[in-house]
Amino acid sequence: APKIIGLTGGIGSGKTTVAHFIEECGFPVYYSDDRAKTIVNDNDILKEKIKELLGAQSYDNTGLYDRKYVADKVFNNSDLLQKLNEIIHPAVRIDFEQWVKEQSKYLVFKETALLFELKLNLQCYKSLLVTAQDNIRIKRVMDRDNKTYREVQAIMERQMPEKEKIRLADYIIYNDTNLEDLKERTERTIFEIE
Ligand code: ATP
Repeated sequence: APKIIGLTGGIGSGKTTVAHFIEECGFPVYYSDDRAKTIVNDNDILKEKIKELLGAQSYDNTGLYDRKYVADKVFNNSDLLQKLNEIIHPAVRIDFEQWVKEQSKYLVFKETALLFELKLNLQCYKSLLVTAQDNIRIKRVMDRDNKTYREVQAIMERQMPEKEKIRLADYIIYNDTNLEDLKERTERTIFEIE
C-alpha cells in the first residue's frame, strides 16, 4: 500500500498550489474538499441522510445539492454542522480509501484543510504543512477572492492557530516568497520524505 501524506495549510497558505506542483512531479493528490462536493451529489444514501437532517430543500428540484441553503442552515448552529460533518466525513473517508487502492505510486497525497482539526494526520504516514505569515496569506486571498482585509482575517481567526499546526507537522513548506521558490521547495520536500 502507498504511504499517505496529509497535505494541509490555513486559508491562503498555498496548499492547492503546492498540490498542483506535487501532481506535476508525478504524485497523485486526493482533493478532499472537491471530492466531498461530488460525493454529496453522487451518493444516494448520503443524500437521504442530509435531507433527513436539514430538509428536502438541501437538494434543488433537479436533485443537485444546494450549497447555499445548507450553509445558511448550519451557519451559527454548531450542533447541526457537527451532525452534517458526521454524515459527510465517513463517506469521504470511504471514497478516499477506494481512491488509494487505485493508485500505483509509493507516495500519495491527501489535501485537506482540516487535517489536524479532524485528527486525520493520525491516519497518515506523515503530514505536510504549507504556511506563510498571516499578512501575506491575507493579501493573497484578498486578491484571489476579492475580500477585504478584515473579512479574511476573521476567517483566519476561526482556524487552528498556525503555531499549533507548525508544532504538529512533520514537514513544513514556507510559502513566503514567489511561486518559483514554492515549486522548488515543494520538489525538495517531496524527495526528503522517507
Ligand atoms: P484556500 O484554503 O483559501 O483555498 P490555499 O491554501 O489552497 O487557500 P492557494 O489557493 O494555493 O491557497 O493560494 C492562495 C492564492 O495565492 C492563489 O491565488 C495563489 O495563486 C496565490 N499564491 C500562492 N502562493 C503564492 C506565491 N508564492 N506567490 C504568489 N502568489 C501565490
